[in-house]
Amino acid sequence: MKTKVIDITKQYDEALGESARLLQSGELVAIPTETVYGLAANAFDEAAVKKIYSAKGRPSDNPLIVHISDIDSLAPLVAEVPEKVKITAQKFWPGPLTMIMKKSDKIPNAVSGGLDTVAVRMPENRFARAIIENAGVPLAAPSANLSGSPSPTNAKYVLSDMDGRIPLIIDGGGCKIGVESTVISFAGEKPVLLRPGGVTLEEITGLIGEVELADAVLNELKEGEKAASPGMKYKHYAPKADITVIKGGLDGFLKYVKGRDCFVLCFEGEEGLFEKCVTYGRENSAFSQANRLFDALRELDEKGAKKVYARCPEISGMGLAVYNRLIRSAGFNIIEL
Ligand code: AMP
Ligand code: MG
Repeated sequence: MKTKVIDITKQYDEALGESARLLQSGELVAIPTETVYGLAANAFDEAAVKKIYSAKGRPSDNPLIVHISDIDSLAPLVAEVPEKVKITAQKFWPGPLTMIMKKSDKIPNAVSGGLDTVAVRMPENRFARAIIENAGVPLAAPSANLSGSPSPTNAKYVLSDMDGRIPLIIDGGGCKIGVESTVISFAGEKPVLLRPGGVTLEEITGLIGEVELADAVLNELKEGEKAASPGMKYKHYAPKADITVIKGGLDGFLKYVKGRDCFVLCFEGEEGLFEKCVTYGRENSAFSQANRLFDALRELDEKGAKKVYARCPEISGMGLAVYNRLIRSAGFNIIEL
């Protein structure tokens, strides 16, 4: 299959027309969003949704997020809209927040990975919204990378993973946030944060009160332990290089890596201290780290890095999302100094 790339910032009408035509005929289209690029299919078309799993090499029990462009599209997807979802949607939609609810019969099993729930998000990116609107259907879309690789935050990295696997990539430039959406389940008694992301835990609890933190956000699942979110049990965000996260200050880090033949994943301004390094944002800005992390992981591969030691981010606010991705990319290799 030949993969076409259309720059929506230059060919707006063609991008919308082509993506609508393909999505309506059961094909896949990679689309820009404010979090990361998504690999989209018509969420009501089970055969189309199954193509997502094969293009990504994604395990079939790992459910997909359904993307909508207006609030009226939510009710038909779910059994009921809980009060806390209404309040949260009003404040954080459109935006980098996914909410899980009991699903309606309209959601095919391929979307929910066989669960009785569905994850829904209304993205903020104007191109994503226009693509959904023009397609006229909700779009099931996971990140547009091969399963296991870092999520793509630009069209170049989508193409390097998906070339020949999908017919169309819509290039909408870089992604504002750079890590995937926050995922919260409202399907049980209490809201549970399953994945940290662009909307912080602090912001959500400020609005609706207590939100539980799923164990798998900060810890590796133990053998046989059931994941609240199936995605959390799989290898994730991993570059080819072997990464170790070093907890502790810069001084200790410098002593630790001294004399080792390695690459360093460090903060901006620290480049002069290491022979071989890639930076991921500023030490005091979790937003800049989120924005850079996945690109930095891919750059390490491009530079042929084999062993990498990474500086550790702060673990609160947006930093929780950065830390959650970094420890997964490191396969939970963490050293505390
Ligand atoms: P991605 O599409 O790559 O951003 O991944 C979507 C994430 O949301 C994965 O970690 C999924 O396991 C999770 N997810 C999607 N739908 C559900 C659901 N119904 N219940 C629990 N987790 C979900
Ligand atoms: Mg993903």
